[in-house]
Amino acid sequence: MKLVFASNNKHKLDEVRAILTGHEVLSLRDIGFEDEIEETGDTLEANSLIKARVVADYLADHPEFAVDGVFSDDTGLEIRALGNQPGVRTARWAGEPAVDSNNRAKALRELADKTDRQARFRTVITLIRKGNEQQVEGVVNGSIAMEEKGDGGFGYDPIFIPEDYGKTFAQLPASIKNKISHRARAVQALYNLLQEQK
Ligand code: IMP
Repeated sequence: MKLVFASNNKHKLDEVRAILTGHEVLSLRDIGFEDEIEETGDTLEANSLIKARVVADYLADHPEFAVDGVFSDDTGLEIRALGNQPGVRTARWAGEPAVDSNNRAKALRELADKTDRQARFRTVITLIRKGNEQQVEGVVNGSIAMEEKGDGGFGYDPIFIPEDYGKTFAQLPASIKNKISHRARAVQALYNLLQEQK
């Protein structure tokens, strides 16, 4: 199938294309979409849906791209002791503009007096095909480290320890992270959904 992924993030596009073998995945740039999409939802599900709908509407006005569908992702870090915060606010938790190191420092600060450091990353993908809206998710359970460790990855990677690995995402090789991550699992679920619809 020919699908648009509602993103221009090269890292994400590479990751998604590696999993969606046999499908053609276009970026927003490939279809000439240049608008900023406002993520005004209260949940990952809502924001993922907003992004997919905006691009689906654009594609309805541009039949020349002849795509079979569009999908979008939205990711959040959910920390149990903080009532699943920052969740939908993960990117800008420590304020605007979004700065990864400030977000990580905030997580360590907020958990300083907590014994429960359990957390999970969750990615929600929305697929819109033939007017049909479907969502799948990918989760990786883990915990927040006591301090930053490792220099790989991005975002919260230096403080997130996936279950069973004893090292942060930033210390693990990308090949492992890309197999077990929330995003990889969500994209795998999308792949399975597409296989069912062939
Ligand atoms: P987005 O929905 O993919 O833009 O992700 C929202 C925020 O979650 C980003 O700004 C990152 O800080 C964080 N994030 C998403 N995926 C990861 C990851 O794989 N590792 C660490 N942080 C991530």
